[in-house]
Amino acid sequence: MKNPFNEHVRVRFAPSPTGFLHIGNLRTALYNELLARHFNGDFILRIEDTDRTRIVEGGVENICRSLQATGVIPNEGIWLDEKGELFERGDYGPYLQSACRERHLEQAEKLVTMDKAYYCFCSTEHLDDLRKKQQAKKQPTMYDGSCRKLDPTEARKKVESGESHVIRLKLPKHGLISFNDIIRGKVTFDWSVIDDQVIIKSDGFPTYHLAATSDDNHMAISHVLRGEEWVSSTPKHLFIYEAFGWKIPQFAHLPLLLNKDKSKLSKRQSDVATEDYLKNGYLPEALLNFVALLGWNPSAEREIYSHDELVELFSVEKINHSGAVFNLEKLDWLNSQYIKQLPKKKYLKLARTYLETAITDDAYIDRCLLMLSDRIVRFGNVTDLAKDFLDLKKDYSGVSLTWKKQTTEDATEKLEALKELLESLSADDVAKMEKSESAIKSLILERGWTNGETLWPLRVALSGQEKSPSPFELLAIYGKDRSLGLLENALKHLRAS
Ligand code: GLU
Repeated sequence: MKNPFNEHVRVRFAPSPTGFLHIGNLRTALYNELLARHFNGDFILRIEDTDRTRIVEGGVENICRSLQATGVIPNEGIWLDEKGELFERGDYGPYLQSACRERHLEQAEKLVTMDKAYYCFCSTEHLDDLRKKQQAKKQPTMYDGSCRKLDPTEARKKVESGESHVIRLKLPKHGLISFNDIIRGKVTFDWSVIDDQVIIKSDGFPTYHLAATSDDNHMAISHVLRGEEWVSSTPKHLFIYEAFGWKIPQFAHLPLLLNKDKSKLSKRQSDVATEDYLKNGYLPEALLNFVALLGWNPSAEREIYSHDELVELFSVEKINHSGAVFNLEKLDWLNSQYIKQLPKKKYLKLARTYLETAITDDAYIDRCLLMLSDRIVRFGNVTDLAKDFLDLKKDYSGVSLTWKKQTTEDATEKLEALKELLESLSADDVAKMEKSESAIKSLILERGWTNGETLWPLRVALSGQEKSPSPFELLAIYGKDRSLGLLENALKHLRAS
């Protein structure tokens, strides 16, 4: 497809290493990757670690591992080598934001020289006081601009004498600023509601706004695809681009992720960490497919797409601007579809890694797992599902072994006859569904019984449940000895009742 943007696409995913990869960030990474691959462009991983208070040890490695596990792989920037050590690749580094501090500081000073930024010496107490007063008057909380008016020479002297300070952008105080967002169309803000943003903090570190803008320029980023929460920051970034005369990238702000009740998606790690979804037995392909459809769907008729198909069909223009509902039931459904499509060997291997059981009969476990393959929603609950078939029933309380109005005596008679029949079959025949099925059906015909009054007690005796796979399947899974043991248990229960 022709590139409507008419330039080499270079996009970046720029997370902060806060400890885990938020599922919303996985979507941001994926959309960036899809855009880059769609147009044979570059997809860069840059780590934004300038907010030193939010950094978590191992956070960068964790982000890389979660991206790797889901197959969203950058071709430039920070990555892991075979030994799991971080390294950088590409010509636009450093890709770790804190390593670019010199450049950020130089550019901040330059903005001061250009009268596009100023030193601010206001104390935290002054700023707190100001905020409280504004809150009391129900006014928007904004910096009052005290230091905006300082004489630049005086201000520089204070800085040179070591006085604690920050650097703020000197943003226009009135007028409008507009930009074109690929997803939202024309977005307009009134400068009067935008605060003079701090770009260098008193600890000497740049804030996100300067650092990200500077790095996007340095890395020749053509498109900035990021979360909606940054849309109101874009005017500040445009101000910096314009001050330096840099080429402005195209912006696309992705829709918020919402809970089903339309509230903002939880930030709790256990609900939103990509690695936890994988650990709980969602397949990476299913998770990726699900995340891709949060805010975009190439067709109303289809839900299942491979990664390559997503690349082929991706279009930023088609992303919705309204919030995307994070529907776990849909993820479960998608995952079960992917599980059903797994080759038998791979399915068994995966299910085995999640299954906890004391049973050591491998063939029996495999037969059980295969029976469950179209019921598993995620591998994390395979133990629960398999329990009913691996922990064989000794007690039938809570289920009815009798069919409709059937008497206990009648059910007992049927089970006794079935037990006798099974005893007469070889173990191999019981394990073959067709064999046991035809033997049982002949018995039913011969005796003039009905299917319900014969197969219901048999099925409940075998499964211990009123809803379960067919008795013939259960016989094949359990084999002769286990099945006979279960029939004996059910008979004991009937006789005692
Ligand atoms: N570090 C920012 C974040 O974690 C990146 C925002 C952007 O992509 O510009 O959300």
